[in-house]
Order: sequence, then C-alpha cells, then structure tokens
Amino acid sequence: MSFPRRRESRGKAGREIPDSIRNDTGGKMARERSVSSEDQQQEEIVAKSEAPEEQFAWNLRPQKLSEYIGQSDVVESLQVALTAAANRGEPAEHILLHGPPGLGKTTLAHIIATEMQTRITHTAGPALEKPVDIVGILSNLDTGEVLFIDEIHRLSRTVEEYLYSAMEDFEVNFIYGKGAYAKTLPYQLRHFTLVGATTRAGMLSAPLRDRFGMVYHLDYYSPEELTRVVKRSAGILGVEVDDEGAQEIARRSRGTPRIANRLLRRVRDYAQVNADGKVTQKIADEALTKEGVDAAGLDRLDRQYLATILENYKGGPVGVEALAATINEETNTLVDVVEPYLLKMGFVIRTPSGRKVGEVARSHLGYTSPDSDAQQRLL
Ligand code: ADP
Repeated sequence: MSFPRRRESRGKAGREIPDSIRNDTGGKMARERSVSSEDQQQEEIVAKSEAPEEQFAWNLRPQKLSEYIGQSDVVESLQVALTAAANRGEPAEHILLHGPPGLGKTTLAHIIATEMQTRITHTAGPALEKPVDIVGILSNLDTGEVLFIDEIHRLSRTVEEYLYSAMEDFEVNFIYGKGAYAKTLPYQLRHFTLVGATTRAGMLSAPLRDRFGMVYHLDYYSPEELTRVVKRSAGILGVEVDDEGAQEIARRSRGTPRIANRLLRRVRDYAQVNADGKVTQKIADEALTKEGVDAAGLDRLDRQYLATILENYKGGPVGVEALAATINEETNTLVDVVEPYLLKMGFVIRTPSGRKVGEVARSHLGYTSPDSDAQQRLL
C-alpha cells in the first residue's frame, strides 16, 4: 500500500483527484484557505455556499493577530513562537487551543496559517471516521501547512493512534496482513503543523495532549473587549452604533464574541424596523429583552437550567444527567455550552455530589431564600 507524496491524491480506486477538489473528501473538510489568489477565489465560492449564519461569522473573523481582540497572553505567546519559527524557516510546533465555544479557536487557527503564510486544511474530529480519512489528509499536506482539527476530543481511538506517529515522527505506519503475517509499512509525511481545538481538554488522552508543543486556554472576554468586538463588527457591517449601545450588547453576550456578533445582528434588525437604524443603549436593551436575553446576558436555556435546580432539586446538588433529562436537553449541550459561563459567573457551583445554584443566581432570578423559593415563584 503506498500513498502519493503530495498534491495529486488518489481516491480509493486510484483515480486522480484534481487539486481544486482534492480536499473535498466527501464533505469531511469544511474549508481550505490559502494565500494564493486562486485559493482565495475558491474560498469565496465556499463562503457563498454556506448558510447565512456561517457566512456572517466568516466575514467578521479577524484575519491577523493584530486584529484579534483580547486573549492578550495567548496572542503575545503565539506572536513570539510564530515569529521565531518563521525566522528559523521552520514550521510552527503543534498547537492545542481549548476553551468554551465561540471564543475564537477557529479564528486563531486560520490566523496562525495566515501569519505563517501557509495553507490551512480544516476538518473536525467526528468527520474523521476511519484511518484512511486522516491518512488521506496527512499525505496531502505540504511542508509547513496547517491541519486544523476542530473538536479533536471526538476523534475515534484508531484515528487518534495514527496521529501519534504523524505528530511526533511525521510518519504513519500502515499495517497490512493479519496475525503472524502482519507487516508494518512506514510512510513519510512532510512537517506540518497540527492545530487542535477542543471545548473539553479533559477528554483528550494524555498521549495526544503531550504531543502538542503549545497549549493555550481561551477564557471569556471582558465587557470592554467585547465592546471592541461589537464596534469592529458594526464597522464591517455598516451598522451605526454608539458607545452605550455597543456596551449594552457586550454586557449581555456571555463573554463570547460569537454571541456578541449574533446579538448585534438581532439588534441591527430591531433598530432598522423600530428606529432609524441607529443602535443606542435603549434600542439594544429593548431588542435583547425581546430576544429573551436578560440584563446579565442569560438566555432562556440558562434561566431554565437554574430554575430547574431551584424548583425541582431544592437548589441542588443534582447530577447533570438528571438535570438534562428534566429539561429535555442534551447533557453535552449543558456541559459544553450552558455550564461554563454559569460556573465562571458563580451562578452555579460544581460539587462532588452534583451541581448547586450559587447565591448570585437566587438573587438574579428573584428567589429570596431556599425555603421561600416555591412561594416566590407562585407570587
Ligand atoms: P470557536 O472556534 O472557539 O468556536 P470562532 O473562532 O468560530 O470560535 O469565533 C466565533 C466568531 O467570533 C468568529 O466568527 C469571529 O468573528 C468572532 N471572534 C472570535 N474571536 C474574536 C476576536 N478575538 N476578535 C474579534 N472577533 C472574534
């Protein structure tokens, strides 16, 4: 079994795959970008075919480290590492980015490729089902190119094992034959840079985690940083927003740029229909309240999560599975999307026996004391 060295990758039947679609392995890779104009055109075509929400997000992504707002420790460290690697004429080391969804991991991966003036191949853990999926991608990577694997904690065990030698020794080992006749055939890869992103660093196996030379945690953004995100996005979209309007959206965005951009879009629509299109604090407040986003930035699911612990489980502790079943939501959604921000803000506390609501949640939702919770809700 042999694989071609580079571009002209072959399908299962050994057919030539043209460069233009070589990375379209059955929809397994979302997008590829490059510094060449030909690839930029390709990217535009891909972007146009995406859902409006995706396209909207894509247009607002910062392209360079200098445009990336917040996460200053991560940005500074990356700047040094990428500059040093570029000066040595070497590919960057493998980089792991972890943190809650919407904080800019994908954006950063694309920026890394841009800063290194190289191409990026973008895929995700669940899309890589069989070893052939990952080997096909790896064998197509040129020296210095970036392979971005989103949701890397969701790789299958067999695919993950192929990555170990690929990351460490830049080779993959094919095993053919069975039992006593099994033989291993090593296949040399070019020195690529793997950028992995995960919302669950704890779910990564130690051998995989240890193969990343740089590991960065992205934290929630401050209201000031999100205000800059809102103003930047408003500028790109041509939305008129004053300082107080931007601050109001930022305050209610759960520390998350993706949410800030989504709320900006909702407020923009509201301002167009109900005002002269200008986003002020009053307009932002009205629009977001109508959207079900409260003054602390909690949405309906956040409030339902907290109210369920308060009302059904007397404030906790309660296990997350029981909670998910009660509110008819996926456990993963609660763990990955809902809980991190509530934990960070002290609305919920994690104990060995389960989740408990924090005092701040009680007062925010208008529950006075554990004993009078039920009566308060009835009033
Ligand atoms: P993740 O991969 O962590 O889920 P993304 O990289 O997809 O998050 O970011 C979501 C959106 O938030 C992007 O479309 C981008 O416009 C915006 N965004 C993320 N980080 C930043 C940042 N540091 N500065 C400005 N906008 C950002």
